[in-house]
Amino acid sequence: MAEPKSLKEQFWDPVAGFGVTFRTMFKKVVTEQYPFEKLPTAPRFHGRHQLNRWPDGLEKCIGCELCAWACPADAIYVEGGSNSDVPDADGNSQRFSPGERYGRVYQINYLRCILCGLCIEACPTRALTMTNEYELADTNRADLIYEKSDLLAPLLPGMEQPPHAMRLGDDEGDYYRGTYAAPAPTEGGAR
Ligand code: SF4
Ligand code: SF4
Repeated sequence: MAEPKSLKEQFWDPVAGFGVTFRTMFKKVVTEQYPFEKLPTAPRFHGRHQLNRWPDGLEKCIGCELCAWACPADAIYVEGGSNSDVPDADGNSQRFSPGERYGRVYQINYLRCILCGLCIEACPTRALTMTNEYELADTNRADLIYEKSDLLAPLLPGMEQPPHAMRLGDDEGDYYRGTYAAPAPTEGGAR
């Protein structure tokens, strides 16, 4: 049989409980009204990835796959391709990045990605960085596999959509050493 409640339990404890309620009513509300009000993230927040470009629009990715090998969740798939300065049969350039290779296929599976950032640490060209974009939910699995076209940085003024010839130097060394007169770099977001 249950013990009878003491006087303190009968009268004081409910009052004390309401005391907490009343105190809290006058405190600053910390609830965020997401998604109606979106607050900025911390500057180094790890969100959606971005494939960066050189200031002439060429891609920084060289298709080396180091990001894919570094990924603990096996979320990245890369296939490299070869650049060429010889125009194709239609006379179009076949150069997407400075140097020999570029990322022909690039996918990140956001069903697997844990946004740890190991891939961007592994990237030797700073082609891959992370933005602050965190709205990555969707209603189907296929749309959460982001293709290269979803990840490439937007073309800024002065940039030209690849493929095209190297505009900023005679070879990739000029790009990597920065020995060209360049507009502002294109990398954005947190690392
Ligand atoms: S952030 Fe981490 S889990 Fe996501 S793709 Fe990069 S290495 Fe893989
Ligand atoms: S993003 Fe960086 S590490 Fe990944 S394939 Fe491209 S150059 Fe290599």
